[in-house]
Parts: sequence; structure tokens; C-alpha cells
Amino acid sequence: MTTLTTSTDTTSTDTTSTDTTWTDWATLRDNVSGRLVTREDPEYADARLGWIVNVDQRPAAILEVAHVGDVVEAVGFARDRGLAVSAQPGGHAARTTVDDTLLLRTRALGGIEIDRARGTATVGAGVKWGELCAALDGTGLMALVGSNPDVTVVGLALGGGVSWFTRAHGFTANSVVAFDVVTACGELEHVTRASDPDLFWALRGGGGDFAIVVRVELALFPAPEMHGGQLFWPVEHAPAVLRAFRDLALVAPRELTLWAHVMHFPPMPELPEPIRGQSFVTVAATYLGSKQLFDALLWSLRDAAPVVMDSMRPIQPSEVGDVAQEPVDPMPSMEHSMLLTGFDDAAIDALLAVVGTPGATPLMMTQVRGLGGAFADDNPAGGAVRPVSEPFQLMSVGVPAVPELAAVIPHAFAALDAALGGVASGYRMPNFAGAAQSDAGGYDADRLARLRALKIDRDPDGVIRSNKPVLGR
Ligand SMILES: Cc1cc2nc3c(=O)[nH]c(=O)nc-3n(C[C@H](O)[C@H](O)[C@H](O)COP(=O)(O)OP(=O)(O)OC[C@H]3O[C@@H](n4cnc5c(N)ncnc54)[C@H](O)[C@@H]3O)c2cc1C
Repeated sequence: MTTLTTSTDTTSTDTTSTDTTWTDWATLRDNVSGRLVTREDPEYADARLGWIVNVDQRPAAILEVAHVGDVVEAVGFARDRGLAVSAQPGGHAARTTVDDTLLLRTRALGGIEIDRARGTATVGAGVKWGELCAALDGTGLMALVGSNPDVTVVGLALGGGVSWFTRAHGFTANSVVAFDVVTACGELEHVTRASDPDLFWALRGGGGDFAIVVRVELALFPAPEMHGGQLFWPVEHAPAVLRAFRDLALVAPRELTLWAHVMHFPPMPELPEPIRGQSFVTVAATYLGSKQLFDALLWSLRDAAPVVMDSMRPIQPSEVGDVAQEPVDPMPSMEHSMLLTGFDDAAIDALLAVVGTPGATPLMMTQVRGLGGAFADDNPAGGAVRPVSEPFQLMSVGVPAVPELAAVIPHAFAALDAALGGVASGYRMPNFAGAAQSDAGGYDADRLARLRALKIDRDPDGVIRSNKPVLGR
């Protein structure tokens, strides 16, 4: 078995063997309860793909684990044969870095326990945010959920977690109280700050490279009243709306979160009539507080140009996943992100020159998230996630529905890099690194060095492999 060393971000270090035999797989199949699909099985063609269906990932085999015992068995099996294991519940961050691994589908690791007295939720590694948020309805409590209800709680938290409520309460990763994991040695461990400070630190933002998580306990936050929704304008108003968004985002209280979008909807029959084939600039918002204050805070946005759709309303936890109206079904997607040190008028105009004209860009959605607030707080008790002082994040998505689009979308990403190079910090949030972008950009040098040293210490044989390996790909 090859021993891991540090490398540059683009140099392969892991040469784990893939010559697992038919007899080996038969042994594993006999020892687990979940379904095992190998390259020889007809189901492999579908089972190998993730939520991002255009990622051509080719694991050695896929195990749909039925319970924690299957995870322990799989890690031991892989370790004994020089294979790597990779957890991928659904594949929202599918990557070819999981090629030749034993891929663990962890969706069956369910269970949601809300402890109102302690103010925590404990969920299995297969639980999606939409499922946890639905369980929080009526409790007056909220977790640090992101934009999409289909993403898993564990997957988002391991990568730091940019929540609707990070401005108020910090990163999702730093809300984690405890993990239950299977280590690279195949041991089941309960990991807390007290039990294993280094591993606890790494799991909170360092990604899925350090252990297979089977369960997580998260802190909850009081949210007796929440509002949210989205304002739509025709895309022609983007220059005025993005300026109003920028001005408000920079002074907003921590309870208010604003994300602006430039959207070009394709003329697909499955889209509702008001948006089908249309282009919009939108601002999605959430607010932890009353309707009166929310309306007062939004006046400058509603005043920027005539609003054509307005879905701002009181929301329950189960509705937070609807605010940004993101897709939940598997789809082709290519993503690109950057953190911005500012979003001045020149940057807004440069952005719109690339993505603002209908029919002139292959990018379907470009989002600018207002950050600030607790994003920038240097939390000494926090994990590997880097405090983010940049006030905005840009994320752009192209949908390569046909091969021709897959060829041109990277050129549009390069045009964005060129247009916004003057305000890009060079960092990005780990969860938002596009497949063609460097994952190392998620961390500062000290954090990356600590993550890499811990990986070599705890998993020298590379038994656990994240989709974004800290030692590089
Ligand atoms: C539409 C969309 C919206 C998004 N919105 C947000 C957002 O608002 N905020 C945000 O922070 N991120 C967001 N993301 C990014 C998302 O959080 C990451 O892609 C995350 O890794 C997805 O986790 P998953 O488990 O759903 O996906 P998967 O692709 O199944 O898993 C991603 C990776 O997480 C790790 N992992 C998952 N489960 C385990 C486990 N049990 N043990 C060890 N490692 C594990 C593995 O490395 C795995 O490869 C979004 C992504 C999409 C596609």
C-alpha cells in the first residue's frame, strides 16, 4: 500500500490498488446488509452517478450501507486490500476524485432527534436538510441550513457550511457539538472537542477526508419568527438592483441575509410560465425577526426598480429550503466560485458584461451572496473553516444539457475570472469550489498545513478519500 505524502494541489499522491477480485467483492457482499454494486453489475451505470449527473465518476464499487455496521465492515475491507473508501450520500459534489474507491451511499443512515432542553439536533449521516428542517417546525428553533433542502446535513457541515443564518450565528461546521465516526483504522468513535481536539477541528470544515461520519449532533438557535422570499425584476434592471443589493448587504443587521441572482431560464416546458425562457435579476432574503422590520429593511430594494414578483412572507423552518427556489432533482451542472473583496460599480458592470445579456451567456445562474457579520468573526473555538472577511461570494452555474454547452461554459468561467480579477481575493468557500478549481483555495496556509499533517498522521495509507482530498488530487 502506498503511503501518503503532501503534494501540490494537482499532483496525484494516492496510488491505491484497484485489482480487487470477484472473490473479494463476494466476501464483502456476504458480510454486509446493504446492496453492493460492482463494475460487473448491470446496475453500475446508474449507481455510479451522483446528483451532478455529468460528472463521469467511476468508483470500483458502490455500497448502499444499511447500517453503521456496514460502514465498519467496508472500511476494514478496503484497508485490508489497499482500496480507499469515500462517502457520497447523494453526489451534490460528485467528483472523479472518487474513481476506484469503494463508494459508500449513506442515505440509509437516518434518524433525527431534537433535544429541546439541550438545544441540539442529532441526525444520521444520510439525513437531508429538508428532513431536519421539517422536524424543526413548531419548535421555535432553527439549524444553520444552506440554500438547498436536498443536500445532506453532514456533507454541508464537513465543508464549512454557508447557511442562510451564518451572518447571525456562524458557520454550520462550528455549530457541530459531536460526530460519531468510523476512523481510517475501522474504529467507531464519538468525537468531541474534549475527546479528540485535532480530529474535531478537522471535521469542522476540512471535508470528508478524515473519517466516515455516521452521525452528527448540531447546536440549534432560537428562531421564534422568520421571514423570507424572493423579489424578481426583468434583467434590464440588473445595474440598479445590484447596486441597491450591494448597498443594503454592506450595512444589513446580522439577522438579514441577502443573495442576488442573475438568472436566464431556458424555454423548457417543465418550467412555470412566468419564468420560462425569461431572464431576471432577483434578490432572495431571509430575516430572523418581525414583518415590520423586514419590510422596513427591504424598502430600498423594492424601490430600486418595479418588482414583477414578490414572494416575501413568514416562513417555517421547513420552508427555508424553498426561499432560493433551487432545483432538487439530479441535473447536469458546472460551477465556479470566488470570494470578492468588494462589489463596487465597476465590478457590477464587469459582471453584467459577462452574464447580464440574455442569449449571450451559457451561464444559467450567477449568484452573489452577501456575507459579513459572523462570517468574519475569528472564533478561537472554531474548526478548520477559515473566517471569511470578504463581504461577498460569487457563484456561477452552467447547465451542460448538451456537449456543446460543456465546451463553452469553461470559457464563460474564464471570462468571469478576467472581469472580476481585481476584486477576487483568491480564496473560496470549500463547499463552493467548482470541479475545475483548486480545493486548496478554501484554506489559508496554516489551516491547510494543519489539515495535511493530520491526514498523514491519522490516515497514512489513504484509506478514507474525500471528493476534495486535502493532499491534492
Ligand atoms: C444546489 C446546491 C446548493 C448548495 N447550497 C449550499 C449552501 O447554501 N451552503 C453550503 O455550504 N453549501 C452548499 N452547497 C454545497 C454542498 O454543501 C456541498 O456540495 C456538500 O459537500 C454536499 O454534500 P452532500 O452530502 O449532499 O453531497 P455528496 O456529493 O454526496 O457528498 C459531498 C462530500 O461530502 C463528504 N461526505 C458526505 N457525507 C459524508 C460522510 N458521512 N462521511 C464523510 N464524508 C462525507 C464526502 O467528501 C463527499 O464527497 C450546495 C450544493 C448544491 C449542489
